[in-house]
Amino acid sequence: MSRAATGAEGGCLCGAIRYRAAGAPEGAGYCHCNSCRRQTGAPLAAFVVFAAAQVEWITGERARYESSPGVFRAFCRDCGSSLSFEARYGDRDLVELHISSLDDPEAFPPNEHTHYRERISWLHIADDLPKFPGSMG
Ligand SMILES: [Zn+2]
Ligand SMILES: [Zn+2]
Repeated sequence: MSRAATGAEGGCLCGAIRYRAAGAPEGAGYCHCNSCRRQTGAPLAAFVVFAAAQVEWITGERARYESSPGVFRAFCRDCGSSLSFEARYGDRDLVELHISSLDDPEAFPPNEHTHYRERISWLHIADDLPKFPGSMG
């Protein structure tokens, strides 16, 4: 992390769903995969990664779509906001919060690109962050 931000709060556009994440995240990055793009309607997604136990869903009940076995994409049923990508890696449950759903998205600048080979060609990225063709390198 390029900054020492810890803890975060956020929620959906209509305010029905709010969450809080405690402690330091495990990382933050962009994802260019087709599934993230389609689910968000955006040309790429940006996530900050926490262990599931660090994340508390404060109000509302998120809907979850299982986009592949064991992989869930959470959203607000009322306003449609994308909230998180939730999956188990090995024996660890992670919640990747969409950085744009945070109250302070400035707090967690992404530090890598994943699934870069799936990016939209008209999207020009001028940063010097690591760019992995698939998932994390
Ligand atoms: Zn909502
Ligand atoms: Zn993705």
